[in-house]
Amino acid sequence: QARGLNGGGAPPPPRRGLRGRRVDSTPAHAAVGALGAMGNVFLGPEPETAQGANGVLRKGQRVQTQYTIDEGGDGQWYKGAVKRLYAGNIVKISYDDGDTWKGSAAYVWSMSGSPPPAQQAAMMGAGPPVMQATVVQGVAVGASVQLPNIPPSEVAVGNEPCCPVCTENKMDMAFQCGHRVCGSCLRGIHAASAPCPVCRTPITQVIRIFN
Ligand SMILES: [Zn+2]
Ligand SMILES: [Zn+2]
Repeated sequence: QARGLNGGGAPPPPRRGLRGRRVDSTPAHAAVGALGAMGNVFLGPEPETAQGANGVLRKGQRVQTQYTIDEGGDGQWYKGAVKRLYAGNIVKISYDDGDTWKGSAAYVWSMSGSPPPAQQAAMMGAGPPVMQATVVQGVAVGASVQLPNIPPSEVAVGNEPCCPVCTENKMDMAFQCGHRVCGSCLRGIHAASAPCPVCRTPITQVIRIFN
């Protein structure tokens, strides 16, 4: 992605140099600026390691930083490698897209360490929607299920088990989950592509049962 090759008239590139993850209430650009200046003042021999957000950082290590929305970024995480280390826990990152950034290692997350909380939350949040999609798909299957012949419903009498939906008729039909309903209720459930009224399992099969 050649963001740096924008021709004349193109919108100005985002403030990439301010990229970093905020870890305190100080505006990111102010914090990075102050630390950057400090790094220049105490510039000495290149340190072997720096203390990143989730572990020790070394030269050449794969890392990521977030270009936070607070600092005018897009909220995305950018991956790259540690190019240089400076005194004062300052690192220079060379990003895969060709950009570079120099600032506090406290904003830098190692790819081999535990992922940032925001990414962990995103990963956990990815679970339920997938399951919901599966249920929707299953319900859609319900409408296309072939129905066997449905006998006229008979009212259950005495100790005879009755349909859990209408609590009135004998149960003549069963789903693949094992639950049973009467023929009249089955028509409504099938027409609505509804799941099993007892266990909510999407209906994929209906059979006639004899009492
Ligand atoms: Zn019924
Ligand atoms: Zn069921």
